[in-house]
Amino acid sequence: MSVLVFVEGLNGEIKKSSLESATYGSQVAQKLGTTATAVAIGEVHEEALTRLGEQGISKVLYDGDSRLNQFVADAYVKVIAKAVGQESAKVLVFSNSNIGAAIGAKLAVRLNGSLATNVTALPKIDGGSFVVTRGVFSGKAFADVALTADLKIIAIKKNSIDISTSGGTATVQSISADLTDADFAEVPKETVMQETDGVLLPEAAIVVSGGRGMKGPENWHLIEDLASALGAATACSKPVSDMDWRPHHEHVGQTGITVSPNLYIAVGISGAIQHLAGVNSSKVIVVINKDPEAPFFKAADYGIVGDAFEVVPKLIEAARALDK
Ligand code: FAD
Repeated sequence: MSVLVFVEGLNGEIKKSSLESATYGSQVAQKLGTTATAVAIGEVHEEALTRLGEQGISKVLYDGDSRLNQFVADAYVKVIAKAVGQESAKVLVFSNSNIGAAIGAKLAVRLNGSLATNVTALPKIDGGSFVVTRGVFSGKAFADVALTADLKIIAIKKNSIDISTSGGTATVQSISADLTDADFAEVPKETVMQETDGVLLPEAAIVVSGGRGMKGPENWHLIEDLASALGAATACSKPVSDMDWRPHHEHVGQTGITVSPNLYIAVGISGAIQHLAGVNSSKVIVVINKDPEAPFFKAADYGIVGDAFEVVPKLIEAARALDK
């Protein structure tokens, strides 16, 4: 019996969110008195696989079939299901990423498992009971959910787990699920990577976000300069992307993407409930708004009441000075 972690690759490396899953899986394995194995699929460097030992993974099963270099849900599910069987895994862990969302339900049906998505903390294991905490209602509440099937499938919310780096080196073994053409009946025609000079928003530890208070796209250099000084990604509110001041992939909130960075800096954003839904699980929220009554201040850890055009240049200066 072991804990199995599915890890995703990006440009040959393991994604940060998967390092969080690996850490989580190892900690669950420790609680259960067993070991954690990972399964990796597609183009990932061997050194990146062995380095998973740092997160406590003892062995990595790797399927390097080049047809899997881009995500194909049915084929990925087949490889992961094979690894679950081979390892007699009782717990399967992966990130609640787009890929995680696409495979979670398929794996639960195929393997007759209990699936919990958006999980934010280690399970409480007591005798036969296995209870996980998951975020619900756009992160406004938490639910404790008992996973009762033999196989517990857990999709971890990004940025909920601190990555451990204290383990050793993992061994790598190949795995093959005898994939046939039928497993590739549905393949993506093209994968377009978001172009950015800086940090990718979903993976970012710090996010600097601008709203309608920035007045127009011509002022976005302030958001970009602050982000670059802090090593952060940029984001925006919905009206900003609706007005084409910023691209749609930067829009966060209920109808945009959900982020949970260590630090979210909101500049000139009122803090409507639909915006908060996408950011309220950030570890620290800083709000800069000239209106002291702006609702965002209620959700803020730190608030600056002031004009963005005066406050942000000072922050940029201070952040650059820190860097020197
Ligand atoms: P505003 O509400 O116009 O706020 C601008 C803020 O900037 C104000 O608080 C103002 O005091 C401040 N300000 C102005 N000038 C300055 C200055 N010089 N310095 C500092 N502060 C200044 N919104 C999202 O963001 N994401 C979503 O996913 C989303 N989904 C939605 C889904 C639905 C179904 C609906 C109905 C709405 C949704 N919205 C979403 C829209 C949401 O309700 C708000 O309208 C939107 O978030 C407001 O954007 P904003 O804060 O940038 O603009």
